[in-house]
Amino acid sequence: MKSNLTQLTDNLVLIGGGHSHAIVLKLWGMNPISGVRLTLITDKTYTPYSGMLPGQVAGFYDFEESHIDLRGLAHFARANFYLDTVIDLDLKNKQVICEEHPPIAFDYLSVDIGSIPEKSSILGASDYAIPAKPVSQFLTAWDKIKTTIKNHPKPPYTLSIIGGGAGGIELALNMKNCLNDMIKNIDNLTINLIHKGNRLLAGHNRWVSQRLKSILLENNTNLYLNEPVMQISSYSPHYYTITCNSGLNIESNWIFLVTQASAQQWIKKTGISTDQKGFILVNNYLQSVSHSYIFAAGDIATMQNYSRPKAGVFAVRQGDPLFNNLQSIILGKKLKAYRPQTFYLSLIGTGKKTAIASWGSLGLEASWLWTWKDYIDRKFMNRFKGFSKMGSEPENSQKKQQSQDKNFMPCSGCASKVASSVLKHTLQRLKINQTPDIIIGLNTPDDAAIIDISEQELLLETIDYLPSFVSDPFIFGQITSNHCLSDLWAMGANGHSVSALITLPYGVDSIVEEILYQLLQGCLKVLNQYEISLIGGHTLQGKKLGFGLSCNGFIAPNRILQKSGMQPNDKIILTKSLGIGTLLAAEMIYKAKGHWIDNAIKSMLLSNKKASEIFLQSEASACTDVTGFGLIGHLLEMMQASQVSVELNLDKIPILPGAIETNQQGITSSLYPKNLENKIYLTSDKDIKNNPHYPLLFDPQTSGGLLASIPEENADHCLQELIQAGYTSSRIIGKVVHQSNNITCQLTE
Ligand SMILES: Cc1cc2nc3c(=O)[nH]c(=O)nc-3n(C[C@H](O)[C@H](O)[C@H](O)COP(=O)(O)OP(=O)(O)OC[C@H]3O[C@@H](n4cnc5c(N)ncnc54)[C@H](O)[C@@H]3O)c2cc1C
Repeated sequence: MKSNLTQLTDNLVLIGGGHSHAIVLKLWGMNPISGVRLTLITDKTYTPYSGMLPGQVAGFYDFEESHIDLRGLAHFARANFYLDTVIDLDLKNKQVICEEHPPIAFDYLSVDIGSIPEKSSILGASDYAIPAKPVSQFLTAWDKIKTTIKNHPKPPYTLSIIGGGAGGIELALNMKNCLNDMIKNIDNLTINLIHKGNRLLAGHNRWVSQRLKSILLENNTNLYLNEPVMQISSYSPHYYTITCNSGLNIESNWIFLVTQASAQQWIKKTGISTDQKGFILVNNYLQSVSHSYIFAAGDIATMQNYSRPKAGVFAVRQGDPLFNNLQSIILGKKLKAYRPQTFYLSLIGTGKKTAIASWGSLGLEASWLWTWKDYIDRKFMNRFKGFSKMGSEPENSQKKQQSQDKNFMPCSGCASKVASSVLKHTLQRLKINQTPDIIIGLNTPDDAAIIDISEQELLLETIDYLPSFVSDPFIFGQITSNHCLSDLWAMGANGHSVSALITLPYGVDSIVEEILYQLLQGCLKVLNQYEISLIGGHTLQGKKLGFGLSCNGFIAPNRILQKSGMQPNDKIILTKSLGIGTLLAAEMIYKAKGHWIDNAIKSMLLSNKKASEIFLQSEASACTDVTGFGLIGHLLEMMQASQVSVELNLDKIPILPGAIETNQQGITSSLYPKNLENKIYLTSDKDIKNNPHYPLLFDPQTSGGLLASIPEENADHCLQELIQAGYTSSRIIGKVVHQSNNITCQLTE
C-alpha cells in the first residue's frame, strides 16, 4: 500500500533566536519545505525585541510585550526547540556543541546570536559591571536595583552608564524616569554617563547628538565625555570606583556597560572566517565567506561588502533575505543578494514618551514620534503573537475535531493511554494464568509486576511507552526514562536493566540516526545516574517519534512499597505539582506560554528515585506514582487496595504555573473525560466544584510525582527531607481515614 508520508531529508539548525531568526521561523511556519528537519537552539525561551528594551526599562512595556516567546514560535514553524547554550562548532563533523546536549548534527546552519558589550579593555568590568546584554541578566539586575531603591528610598544612590551610543543614552534617560516615577521626585539619585569620545552618538548627525546631550543635562545626568574607562574596582559590596584614563575616579553603586558590540569568543575558535573583532564574515547572501553551508545575520554577522553599525534594525531587515536564501540553498536554487540600506531611521526614546528621529543628516523631536515608534514596535511584535488563530495544518484539523467533540483532543505523553475502565473490563474478560512464583501480577495489579526469584531478592518488571510530546529528542529521552523507571521507584525497588522500544520518523539515514542518538543519549543520562544498563530493544519507523522502556529491578521482600497498606491517620504526601496534561494540551493549540512549558518540563525531568528512598526511610505504608489516570485515579487505586477512605485538602494540592488558566479555558487532554468519571467517589460538604484545583485532580500526568501515605508522626520530617532533596513542590495534601460505607474521598478547602 502506498502512503504519502514525508521523509526527512535535510537538517537545518538555527543557533540563537535573535531578530532575524524570529522572522525566519515565522516565515517558515507560513511556507515550510516538507522534509526539512528544522531545529532552533536557543539559550533562552524568550528573546527580547531591542526596539522595546529601553521602554521596558522605563516601565512602559511589560516582559511579555517586549519579548518573543520562541517556544511558541518554533512550534508554529514546526521546528524542534532545543533550550541550550551553544559553546562551539565542530565544522569537520558538521556538529553544534552545546553545554548540555550531545553534539547536534546539521547539514545547514544559520547563526543569529547577537553581540555583547565589549568589556575586555576595562579591568574589573567582568566582575563588577552589569552588561546591557545578555538582556535577561540585565533585566534581572535592573529589577533587583528597583526593589532595593523602592524598599530603601533614603540613601543616596549613584548609577553609572559606560557608553554614549544610542543604547547608553536611552538607558540613562529611561532609568531616571522609571525611578522618578517609582519614588516621586527622587532627589538622592545621581546618574552618570561616561563616554570615551568627545561627542555622544558618534554615528548620528550633529543636531541629534546635541539635542540628546541637552536632554541628558536637563535630566540632571552627569556627562563625562572624552573619558575612556580603564578600570573598575570595589572596596565594599555595592560600592565601586570607575577609574578613567585621565585619572578621574567616579564612585557608583551600580555600573552598566553599554560599550561597543563584541562577539562571543567561541565563534573565532571554530575556524569560520571572521572580521578582526570575531564577527562572522558573510557575503551578500548572508553566507559565510569560508563555509557555504553556514549563514549568519544580525549583530554576529559582518557583511564583507557593507560596513554597517550593529543595530536591531539591520537584524530585522536581514530576516526576509536570510529566510529566502536558507530555503534556496536547500532547494538547490540560486541565492539572492541582499543590500542593506545606507541610511536608516533611528527613533530614540527620551524616557518621557517623546522621541527623537535621526535619519542621515536630518533630525526631529516630537511626542508623536514616540506614538509612531510605539505603533511600529507593537506591530512588529504582533507578528509573533496569536498563533492559535493562524494555526498550521495538523493543529487546525485537530481543532476541527475538537470542536466536533468538545471533550476530545488526541494527546501525547501519558494522556495517550486507554482509560483505566477499558483496561479493567478487557482484562476481566480474559483468562490469564499466573504461575505461583508471580507475587504481583494482573490479579493484584500494582506499579510493577513482582516475580519470586530467590529468598533475598524479588524481580520487578514494568513497561511504558509514550508518543513524543516535546520536540527535543534528548529531553524526550530523559523524561520518558524517568517516567518508565518511576514504576520501580514507586515500589521502592532498585533498577537493574532496561530494553527500549523506539518508533522513529521516516527519514534519510543520517537524520534518523541523529534523532536516535539524541534520544538514547537522553535515556543514558538517566540510566547512568542509577547504574542501570540498556540491554536491548527494538526499533521501528512510523509517523511520529515514540519511546518506551521495559524495566527490570530488584527489591528485598521486606522493602516493597505497594498501593495497598494505607493506614487510618496516615498523612498523604504528593511530591510534584499537577497540571502536565492540560499544559501539554494547551501547547498543542498555542495556548500555553513558553515559561509554563519550561516549568512542566523541569518537573517531568525530576526523577522520583530519591523521593522513593525518602519514603522508605519515613516508613511509608503505601506508594504509587501519579500518571495517566490523574491524582484521583491513582489515589482511588490505593484506597481500594487498602480499603480506606481519604480526606483531601484541595487548597494544599500543588499546581503547575499556568495549569489553572489553561484548564479554565476548557483545555483538557484526551484522557481527561474518562478520568472525570471518578468524580462519583468524591464527596464534600461544600460546593467545591468551583475551586480552581478541583478539575486538576483528574488531569493526566506524564512523569508525575509520587503519592505516598506516611505515618502521622513521620510526615512533617518526611516533607522537609523531600523539599531539601529538590522536590520543592511536595505537600501534605490530606490524610487517610477509616472506610465508612463506601470508599470515598472527602474534599475540603
Ligand atoms: C540598551 C540597548 C538598547 C538598544 N536599542 C536599540 C534600538 O532601539 N534599536 C535598534 O535597532 N537596536 C538597538 N540596540 C541594538 C540591538 O539590541 C542589537 O543590534 C540587536 O539586538 C541585534 O539583534 P540580533 O538578532 O543580532 O541578536 P539578539 O537580539 O541579541 O538575539 C540573540 C539571541 O540569541 C540568543 N543567544 C545568544 N547566545 C547564544 C548561544 N551561545 N547559544 C544559544 N543562543 C544564544 C540570545 O538569548 C538571543 O535570544 C540596543 C542595544 C542595547 C544594548
